[in-house]
Amino acid sequence: MLLENIQSLKITNFYKRLINTIKKKHPDISEQELKQIQKAYELASLAHKDQKRLSGEHYIIHPLHVAIYLAEMSMDPQTIIAGLLHDVIEDTKYNEDYIKNEFGEEVAKLVKAVTKISLVKKDSYKENLPELKAQEAAENLRLMLLATVEDIRVIIIKLADKLHNMQTIQYQKPHKIERIAKEVLDIYAPIAGRLGMYKIKSELEDLAFESLCPEEAKKIKEEIKQSKAELEQFLKKVKKALHKRLEEMNIKAEIDSRVKHLYSVYTKMQKSGKTIKQIYDLRGIRIIVPEIKDCYAVLGVVHTLWKPLPGRFKDYIALPKPNGYQSLHTTVMAPDGKPLEIQIRTYEMNERAENGIAAHWLYKHNLDFKTVKNKLEWLQTLKQLTQEFQNYAKNRLENTAEFLNTLKEELQPDEIYVFTPKADIITLPKGATVLDFAFKIHTDLGLRCKSALVNDRIVPLSTELKSGDKVEIITHPEPKPSPIWIKYVKSTRARQKIRAYFRRKEELEPSKEEKKEVAEKKVELKIKRKPSKNPKEVPIEVIGGGIDVPVRYAGCCSPVPGDKIIGYITRGRGITIHRVDCSQLPKNQNEIERFISVKWEGLTEIYPVAIEITARDRQGLYLDLVQAITNTKTNILKAVADLPKEKNGIMKATFLVEIEHIDQLNEVIQSLQLVKDVIEAKRKN
Ligand code: MN
Repeated sequence: MLLENIQSLKITNFYKRLINTIKKKHPDISEQELKQIQKAYELASLAHKDQKRLSGEHYIIHPLHVAIYLAEMSMDPQTIIAGLLHDVIEDTKYNEDYIKNEFGEEVAKLVKAVTKISLVKKDSYKENLPELKAQEAAENLRLMLLATVEDIRVIIIKLADKLHNMQTIQYQKPHKIERIAKEVLDIYAPIAGRLGMYKIKSELEDLAFESLCPEEAKKIKEEIKQSKAELEQFLKKVKKALHKRLEEMNIKAEIDSRVKHLYSVYTKMQKSGKTIKQIYDLRGIRIIVPEIKDCYAVLGVVHTLWKPLPGRFKDYIALPKPNGYQSLHTTVMAPDGKPLEIQIRTYEMNERAENGIAAHWLYKHNLDFKTVKNKLEWLQTLKQLTQEFQNYAKNRLENTAEFLNTLKEELQPDEIYVFTPKADIITLPKGATVLDFAFKIHTDLGLRCKSALVNDRIVPLSTELKSGDKVEIITHPEPKPSPIWIKYVKSTRARQKIRAYFRRKEELEPSKEEKKEVAEKKVELKIKRKPSKNPKEVPIEVIGGGIDVPVRYAGCCSPVPGDKIIGYITRGRGITIHRVDCSQLPKNQNEIERFISVKWEGLTEIYPVAIEITARDRQGLYLDLVQAITNTKTNILKAVADLPKEKNGIMKATFLVEIEHIDQLNEVIQSLQLVKDVIEAKRKN
């Protein structure tokens, strides 16, 4: 009896916590909505009253927790109600119609979608054949994804459900623990990541990691604990120094120190082969400020207090991650001579980094879920994937495995792992091609790249690689890169190497034979580019005739359609197209016969062009520059900004943009010149 009382007291307290959280997150919630939430709680209590969790607790504890997590994620009342009721249809006599009558169609739909997912799982328990299990697990996932595409709140409820189940997983049988934990690591945590819900993502990861590798988890925990006192002492000092400077500048800021979560420490150690003491970004601080302009001001303060480490500054405010994540990241040399990671963001950005962009859009911008859904590009990919899978013959096992693999890859967006012929693992960014692989191994290998064998099949250089591919590069005896390669590579490094090659490269003398050949071939023919991927015409016409020799664009001046251009006959490589004002063109008088008149014929391609901006630095400038470019509907391929090192506060930024025509380029430059404090915007070179 005493135990019973304690339990009901506990339940009442959880319910109070739920209501308090809701009120805190949404102070403007209506009495009517609160009443509905209470009604849902009462129905769930009644429906589950004779059920117990494996832990022996009353079942209602579970939906209550799910609802609390949803409230903490700032979800709307409908989702919280659905969270309270999520196991009702499945396990009790109250059906969908009942819920629809009491709580409306939206809630009923959500509960049904969540239930549908769980039902497949239930059925699959009956079968013990492992292959059937795998298939049904996939079917289950597919259903969930389909439902998610319809309404993203379905997966959010499922994530909250998983979080509580993971917290009480110790009551499950060992083989189930392993299966559930693996699924969480493979599917649910990455989904949370893709939705930008980093808080629940790291919680799920840590719980799954602890159940899968209890020994490792314990070890890491202990080591973190050991260095904690020292760490706290250090962070206290850093915070004090920061607060002082920020107060002087009248910036209100909240400073949090943070230690990486278990699983990310573990993966970091695994990837780098380092010990826990060597992982320096174990320690970091987060500075939260009211406005965007404060972020840049704080960054300035941080960089005057401590030296920034080169190459570690990332501006995710100007260039947010695809899931909407925004923040400034920098790493500085801390007073103790070791690096310290610092994140700077606004309160709004911080909330979004924890709870995801879906919640943000819903509340800050009052968008409905359909609009939110369309905004999340990733969900579109999901939709495609699930539809493709639906078209498969469902009973074939290999397709199930394929679907799961594709899904897993889709969910791990950042990196792929491929193999060399000697089975060494090479890590590349997702979307990387055969060329990226070659350049990653060695610049020389990249430059001599001819084609490649991927899984023993010959493929073109632009072929995108997948995790697990075995890649072997076939080379020319000598470097033979093409400027089009810039478009084939994903990694910045490879792009730089190709650029550098063309910058260095001097035009070679054409041989006598070639001169003669060109002269002889001056007939009415359009010149063709040597086929690199698909034979395709270069939009160039030779004035007064044509020739059938390879044509390429000069890397030194990267001409785009609309530029005034000239052809230059080179030895062994046909004609190179330069801008007429290119500084690399030979000025020697006896070279003149090697020039040939050419003009643009049509527009078929997009060209990368670098624009350099010189400006007086100020808060928010970088953001304005990005805005000026995107206003012209031009894609930014890459942005590099130097922080002002000199006292005069002049900064330089370079943007690599996608240009179709010179008019577009002029438009971008004009737009940039109109930005306040811009001194000069010009094409680089
Ligand atoms: Mn549940």
